Amino acid sequence: MPPLLPKKSATKCDICDITLIEREDDNEATIKNRLEIFKKSTESILKYYEDKGILFSIEPKKGKDDYYKIKDLVFRHLKL
Ligand SMILES: [Zn+2]
Repeated sequence: MPPLLPKKSATKCDICDITLIEREDDNEATIKNRLEIFKKSTESILKYYEDKGILFSIEPKKGKDDYYKIKDLVFRHLKL
């Protein structure tokens, strides 16, 4: 997996020049495993709420513009 932001140096921060370290578990295999565990552990919860008809699926794509719509939607359904 390529890094999200290109770096000038693999061992120094581009902004403050601090020495960077890489955790032993900071790798693609560990991240894939974590995502798989997350998926398995949430599937039954999603199904539970889906079966009750109270599952909201939200895919924010516009950043902060979506935040207010999501907040309003949730508050209206929770009657807050
Ligand atoms: Zn820095």
